Amino acid sequence: MLLLMIEREMPIDIVLTADTGMEFPEMYQHLDRLDEFLFHERGIHLTTLRHPQGFEWLMFYEPKQKQTSIEQRQKLGISLQGNGWPGARVRWCTGQLKTHLMSKEINRLKGEFHAIHYIGIAADEPKRIREEHYPLVDWGITEKDALQICYDRGYDWGGLYEIYHRCSCWCCPLQKIGELRKLRHHHPELWMRLRELDKRALEQFGNSALGQFKKGWTVEQLEQRFAAEDLQISVFDLLNKPIHP
Ligand code: SF4
Repeated sequence: MLLLMIEREMPIDIVLTADTGMEFPEMYQHLDRLDEFLFHERGIHLTTLRHPQGFEWLMFYEPKQKQTSIEQRQKLGISLQGNGWPGARVRWCTGQLKTHLMSKEINRLKGEFHAIHYIGIAADEPKRIREEHYPLVDWGITEKDALQICYDRGYDWGGLYEIYHRCSCWCCPLQKIGELRKLRHHHPELWMRLRELDKRALEQFGNSALGQFKKGWTVEQLEQRFAAEDLQISVFDLLNKPIHP
């Protein structure tokens, strides 16, 4: 959306993005490139919103304030600090690291400057459309088209979208097991960090929902599963290797 807005000479005063701190390295490189281009074309930089303490602080250290949640945790013998792994019902990360920061800044800009807010939701994501301005929807551009438009202009996220279906936080427990298998294969250093995070979560929150990475799976169990799969593949390859006399 931003690239097309620049090309179509639409007015742009500020470009906001929220950083959870857990994006793929390729995403940060992409944002740097985009920032350079934006500055070259319009003389402004991306404005990145960040929670002052970040993901890990919220996950392990944020002190609980509400009396009801303190009592509940005391009853269950769970640490009074930290939110643990986010889950489908408690996505504290999206709220605290993205939507809350964005809404606050957007409301300020609307109040102060009567700003118009453009959102890059594509034409095939109708459920996400609310009461803002959606240029991609107006132009009939789908998610697939949008990706191609970026590729055509040389933005390829270092191949991230060729590997993963969604490229938000690499540590997201809500991603599918297939995506985690790819993470282990393509980003072993991030996979190691994920194993560490889960180890800490289990130490701090035990088997409660807060310590549960995925239903029925710790990251260590996934590691063992993926390693066993790799071994099976290697044995299969070995057995099917043509024998040359
Ligand atoms: S991608 Fe996952 S971990 Fe990241 S903010 Fe969204 S729900 Fe939370």
